[in-house]
Amino acid sequence: MKKGVSVKTRITIWYAALMLFMITVVLLLVGTLSYRLSIDNIKKDVTLQVTKVSESIAKRQLDVFHMVDSEKEFKNVSIYETSGKYIAGQYNYDVAGIEFKEGYLRKEKVDNKEYIVYDVSLRHQRGEHSGIWIRGAESVSTAMLLGRSAAASLLIIIPIILLITVLGGYYITKKAFSPINNIIKTADDIALQSDITRRIEISPNAKADELLSLSLTLNKMLDKIEASLRNEKRFTQDASHELRTPISVILAQGEYLCEIAQSDKEKELAEDIVLKAKRMSTLVSRLLLLSRIDQNRQKFNSERIDLAVVCDIAADGMRELAKARKVKLITELEENIIVSADEALLVSAVSNLISNGIKYGKEGSYVLVRTASLEGFSEITVEDNGIGIAKENLDKIWERFYRVDSVRNDDYGSCGLGLSVVKSIVRLCGGEISVKSELGKGTAFKIRFKN
Ligand code: ADP
Repeated sequence: MKKGVSVKTRITIWYAALMLFMITVVLLLVGTLSYRLSIDNIKKDVTLQVTKVSESIAKRQLDVFHMVDSEKEFKNVSIYETSGKYIAGQYNYDVAGIEFKEGYLRKEKVDNKEYIVYDVSLRHQRGEHSGIWIRGAESVSTAMLLGRSAAASLLIIIPIILLITVLGGYYITKKAFSPINNIIKTADDIALQSDITRRIEISPNAKADELLSLSLTLNKMLDKIEASLRNEKRFTQDASHELRTPISVILAQGEYLCEIAQSDKEKELAEDIVLKAKRMSTLVSRLLLLSRIDQNRQKFNSERIDLAVVCDIAADGMRELAKARKVKLITELEENIIVSADEALLVSAVSNLISNGIKYGKEGSYVLVRTASLEGFSEITVEDNGIGIAKENLDKIWERFYRVDSVRNDDYGSCGLGLSVVKSIVRLCGGEISVKSELGKGTAFKIRFKN
C-alpha cells in the first residue's frame, strides 16, 4: 500500500489553514474598523472644534485675536480673512492653502498627507475684519497609524497563533487517534501471528465515545469470527474422524476384491476403488493433522535432529514414486546440521515437497534435495526442473484446497492440501518456508531454521 500523509497530519494542516484564514479575516476586519472609527472620531472632533469656535465668536462678539489665543482648547482650528490671510488660531502650513468650502466636511490630500477639513464662515465682524473663515483641520495619520499597527500585529500574532494551533492541533488529534492506532496494531498482530484470540485492549478509563463503541463492535465481531472458525474446525475434525473408519473398510475390502477378482475388468475396478480410497485416506489424515495443529493439539516431540537424516528418510520413501515417474531424485546432503524439531513431522513435510517435485516434474527431469548451513540459518532446499508455477499463482499455493490446474492435477491424485500442511508443520517446528518458481523452468522450496 502506498504510504500517504497520515490523517493526523492532514487534520492538523486543515485546522491550521482554517485558523490562519480566520485570524487573517478577523485582524483585517479589526484593522479596517479601527481605521474607520478613528476617521469618524477625527471628523466629529474637527466639526465640534469649529462649531465651538464659531459659536463662541458669534455669541460673545469678541475680537477674534483675543478669542482664539485665549481659548487653548480650540485645537486644530485656525482663522483666516475672507482673502485667505491667516489671522489667528493654530497655524498649519499644509492646510493654509486649501480652498475654503462652506460647511463641507471632507478629506484633502496635501503632499501625501491626508487631512479632514471643515470650514465655516462668519460675516459682519466688528473691527478690521468684515468676515472670517474658521477652518478645522486634523491629520488622519493617527488613523493610518492604527491601521498600520493592526497590520504589524498581524505579522507577529499570526505566526505565534499558528504555531500554537499546529502544536495544539497535532497533540489533540494524536490523543484522539490513539484508540485507532490501538485498533490498527491489534489487527496487524492478528494478521501477522494468525492469532484470532487477540482482542483490542480497552482501557478502564476509556471515554464512551464513537471510538470506544468501534473497539467494542470490532471485539464483538472478532468473538463471532473466532466462534465460527472454532465451529468450522470442529466440524472438519468431526467429519474427518467419522470418515476414517468407513474409508479404512473400503480400502481393506477393495484390496480383498483385488485379490479375488475373477477377470481383468473386475481387477481394474477394484484397483480403482483402492486408489481412490487411498487418496481419501490421505485427504482425511491431512485434514485431521491441520485441525490438530490449528487447535494446538498436535503432539510435538522436540528433539535435536540432523537435517541430512530427515532428508535421507524422506527421499528414501519417495524413490519408488520417482522411479515410476522416471524422475531423477538426487540428494546433496551436508551432515551435522542440527535443529530442534519434530523429526516425524519434518520428514512428512519434506516428503510432501519431494512428491510434488516428482508429480509436477516432466519425464527425465530431476528433484534435488539439499541441506546447507549459512549466515545464521540451517536450510533444506527441494528443487526441481518441472513444470513450474506461474507468478500470479505463487501466493495462492499455500491456501487450503488450492490447485493451480485442478483438472490436470486430478491425474496426479492431488487435493490441494499438501503445501498447507507443509507450511503448518514448518511453522510448528519454528521454521519458515519460501518458494521461487518460473513457469516451464522449475520450482525451488526452501525451509529455513534460525540457528
Ligand atoms: P496438491 O495436493 O494439489 O499437490 P499442494 O498444496 O501440494 O496440493 O500444491 C498446491 C498446488 O501447487 C498444486 O496443485 C500444484 O499445482 C502446485 N505445485 C506444488 N508444488 C509444485 C511443484 N514442485 N511444481 C509445480 N507446481 C507445484
